[in-house]
Amino acid sequence: MAQRNTWQRERVREELSDVRGFVSAQSLHQALREANTGIGLATVYRALAGLAASGEADSLQSPEGEALYRACSSEGHHHHLICRSCGMTVEIEATDVEQWAQRTAALHGFRDAEHVVDIFGLCASCANAAAQE
Ligand SMILES: [Zn+2]
Ligand SMILES: [Zn+2]
Ligand SMILES: [Zn+2]
Repeated sequence: MAQRNTWQRERVREELSDVRGFVSAQSLHQALREANTGIGLATVYRALAGLAASGEADSLQSPEGEALYRACSSEGHHHHLICRSCGMTVEIEATDVEQWAQRTAALHGFRDAEHVVDIFGLCASCANAAAQE
């Protein structure tokens, strides 16, 4: 089939932007299934990969090695602070990291260097809740 299933990609994008933090393809697929969209898991994977490739979604690896996705509110290069308990995500700029990465790459004779830096931790309210247990 030559025709691209753009409505499915649109639907995946919509669902993704309703999510507060990063989400796996499987849990997004679960939500789409509950909404009776009939979109298969393979299509969700493809749509997410496409959105990530075109810069419309952020992708990252969880500490457990699972691929996670999010519709990003910032454009361009940025980093994330992610709560590993509730998934709350803050988009951050990291000027120090940019300078360090450029310097380090140049020091080793690398050009066109890119980097991925995301910080996982417990957000303030999850840390509070944990302290009160
Ligand atoms: Zn982002
Ligand atoms: Zn949290
Ligand atoms: Zn950076």
